[in-house]
Order: sequence, then structure tokens, then C-alpha cells
Amino acid sequence: MNYDVIIIGAGPGGIFSAYELIKKNPELKIGVFEAGNALENRKCPIDGDKVKSCIKCKTCAIMSGFGGAGAFSDGKYNITNDFGGTLHEHIGRAKSLELMRYVDDINVAYGGEKTRMFSTAGTKFKKICIQNKLKLLDASVRHLGTDINYVVLENLYAELKEKMDFYFRTPVEKIEIVDGKYRVFYKDEYSDCDKCIVSVGRIGSKWMEKVCNELDIPTKSNRVDIGVRVELPAVVFSHLTDELYESKIVYRTEKFEDNVRTFCMNPNGAVVNENTNGIVTVNGHSYEDPAQHTENTNFALLVAKHFSEPFKDSNGYGESIARLSNMLGGGVIVQRFGDLVRGRRSTVKRIEEGLVTPTLAATPGDLSLVLPKRILDGIIEMIYALDKIAPGTANDDTLLYGVEVKFYNMEVDIDENLETKYPGLYVIGDGSGVTHSLSHASASGVYVARRILEN
Ligand SMILES: Cc1cc2nc3c(=O)[nH]c(=O)nc-3n(C[C@H](O)[C@H](O)[C@H](O)COP(=O)(O)OP(=O)(O)OC[C@H]3O[C@@H](n4cnc5c(N)ncnc54)[C@H](O)[C@@H]3O)c2cc1C
Repeated sequence: MNYDVIIIGAGPGGIFSAYELIKKNPELKIGVFEAGNALENRKCPIDGDKVKSCIKCKTCAIMSGFGGAGAFSDGKYNITNDFGGTLHEHIGRAKSLELMRYVDDINVAYGGEKTRMFSTAGTKFKKICIQNKLKLLDASVRHLGTDINYVVLENLYAELKEKMDFYFRTPVEKIEIVDGKYRVFYKDEYSDCDKCIVSVGRIGSKWMEKVCNELDIPTKSNRVDIGVRVELPAVVFSHLTDELYESKIVYRTEKFEDNVRTFCMNPNGAVVNENTNGIVTVNGHSYEDPAQHTENTNFALLVAKHFSEPFKDSNGYGESIARLSNMLGGGVIVQRFGDLVRGRRSTVKRIEEGLVTPTLAATPGDLSLVLPKRILDGIIEMIYALDKIAPGTANDDTLLYGVEVKFYNMEVDIDENLETKYPGLYVIGDGSGVTHSLSHASASGVYVARRILEN
């Protein structure tokens, strides 16, 4: 087949590229190649009954397929340049915010019209945080919720599928440059295109690295964030979450002067497994629908590790720590905060007797056998700091799931058009190492589509 544009990966980056291209030029012939399934066929086998934990499927239904890693996410679209990626460094701060707002308008138009936009503007919590050595970052956040996020994706797919070719369960194996065009190989076949948008997300990081090596596209290694997911009664954080929904708070540790931050806060949500290349880590989400709310709130506490020469494999470091928890716990480990500070493992009995009912079936264990001391010390310090603004955070029964690892793709060398050194070959979204969030990845998709349309 010959296409004007081929998009590799149907996560938010790929979807919003496709949307913008076809809206603005319905004549374009577009092919979208996706390693995972169509939305309706994305089913994680964990049912809490027969299959209790991750069985490491060949294609992870949570991370792959139409909607990408974001399909069953909490659907929090943060409109900010303060976190979620460094798109603004390529396209400028104002443009980046403008595109994130544009994406928000589309999400609202395609099913999110009843959802709320939260904002830190004018909140009293900024002062309270700073008085307690914590910094609340600025953001507006649209919380679609896992349920409405799914509806928006369904609506977008219903429209897009009529106007372009989707190839599901079709991982692209290779990209070749032939006479200034791009040849995309899959399942013993190939298709050609004038412009190629690569948007393979975090799950495609190893493949992306291979493509960059083959095409001699420079990359630089990035960072890895390591930590735990905290779960506690929703009331402990409700004063913050009712007003802000998600609060991104940073704490600078006294001992090592490391930054520890809250990440992905899910009021009344659930903790879930995440499988990245066969390694089981932890994540969280929550529903917009009150009927699906739990009594707990969860959020991650992460410490960023940047490595200097000669070490380059920051993701490998994170994977090794996650593997350790998988080795000890057969998957994710859960520990009561009280057990952690007393230096003892948690047991099924101690967790059952506790006042917080876990929303994820994880193995009770000892996180101090998994996490490096520096990281664990930082997390413990931050829990005590958060306890001052949300009393109860440092309660004995607060649950810590480990490990949460936020892998970052190596950063691909792309210019202000998000284009590689090859004209017409674009790398966007989390796969580029430039974005780490739904809003930034989606905005990068719109941006590249507009560059292509201009040409
Ligand atoms: C459980 C969970 C919750 C999250 N919650 C939030 C949140 O609330 N807010 C937020 O901002 N972010 C959240 N994130 C992160 C967010 O989902 C990602 O930042 C975002 O999805 C990145 O979009 P993307 O299009 O760049 O990549 P992805 O969404 O990862 O999509 C990439 C797609 O490319 C496909 N692919 C990979 N390799 C190939 C190949 N070789 N050929 C064909 N297809 C390929 C993959 O199957 C995948 O579907 C969450 C992530 C997870 C896992």
C-alpha cells in the first residue's frame, strides 16, 4: 500500500495526529499501525478470581492497543509545562499550552462534556505546602476518569475508522528509507509513505532504540523515577483532592537533598498492576462514576535518578529494582508504613487487621529488601512531611506498594518540528522521550499533524 502518512502506534500521540490530519485534510490517505488490539478487544485477563495477578501476556492489554497506555488510565489531562514532559522546549511554552487546551476541547466534545476541570490557581494549599517544606506545582487538570476516557476513545475511533486504515495486532518491525520515502515493514509485508509519524510510547522504547540505531538517529539516555504507590483512606487527602483533584507536590529531602514528588493521584481510586516488557510494577486509576469509587485514595511517591558517565542504562537500573520485587513477591509487594518503619515485613494477617483495605491483591512483604536506602529514606521523609498537611498519611496502616517505576524513553534527537534528521520522519509522544503524559503526547500529535499539513 502507498500512504500519504503512516502513523506507528495508536496511543494519544498517534490518535491526535490522525484526528488533526483528517479533520484538516479529508483527502489524505492515512494508515495507522498498532501492535495491540482494537479498543473493544483490549481485555486484561486479571479478573481477581481465576487470574489474580499479571500473567505477562505477549501484548499487554493495559499498555497496548487503540488508546495506548492511556486507554484504562485515570484520564487526567494536565495542562501545564511544569510536568508531564518537555514539549515546550521544542515548540515553545505558549504553543504547548495552546495545543493542550485544543486537545481538551476535543476530549470535551467527544464525550467529556460533563467532566470537571480543576486548577491550582488561587488555592490556599500553596501557602500551606510551602510552610511545611513542600511545593505545590501549578496546573489545570481535566479529570476524565477511566470510564469517560474510554467513551472519548470509542467516539474518536468511531469517527477515525471510517476515514483511514487501521491495522491492529500489527507491530511494525522495521522502517527503511527508500528514495526519500519511508517503507514500513510488518508481518512479511510493507507499505510506503511520504511522511511517517512514530508514536510508540513507553512500551515501544526498546523498538525505538533499535530504529534509531539502524537509521543512525542520535539519542541520549534519560532518567528513571523509582518509588512506591501509597494507598490510604480517601478522607485523609479529601481536603486537597476535592479542590485540586490531583496535587503535584515536591519535597526536598533533608538527608540527601533529593526531590521526591507525588505523582498520579487517584481519589477514591484503585491500585493496579502494570506490565512493562514482562516486568510487573504498580500504577493507579479511578473512575469518574461515583458508583465505581473505592474508599481509598492512591498516589505515587517517586524519586528521580539521573545517572552520569559511564552509566547509561537508567531504565535497566529501574528494571532491576522492579525485578527484585517480582522475584521476592511474584509481582508487586505491599507493606504497611508501620511495618516498614519498624523494620519488619508485612504479613497477610497484619494487612487484614489494618484499617486500610488494599484495592490490589499484592504480596505482603518488605520493601526495604527491594528499594535502595537513599530512595526509601526519601520516601519515608516525604510521608512524614505530607502528614503535616494531610494528617493520617504517616499512619501505621497506610499501604505502600512497590515498586512503582516510571521509565523514560531515551530522548530521540528531534528538532523544533519534532522531526528527525530525515525530512518527513517524525517522532512524537512518550516514544520520543520528550513527553511523559496524555496531554503532552496528544499535543505533540496535533503539532506534527499541523507541520505536515503546512508542507
Ligand atoms: C495505568 C496508567 C495510568 C496512566 N495515567 C495517566 C494519567 O492519568 N495522566 C497522564 O497524563 N498520563 C497517564 N499515564 C501515562 C500516559 O498514558 C502516557 O503518557 C500516554 O499514553 C503516552 O501516549 P503515547 O501516544 O506517546 O504512547 P502510548 O500511549 O504508550 O501508545 C503507544 C502505542 O504504540 C504501540 N506500539 C508500540 N510499538 C509499536 C510498534 N513497533 N508497532 C506498532 N505499534 C506499536 C503500543 O502498542 C501503544 O498502543 C498513565 C499510564 C498508565 C500505564
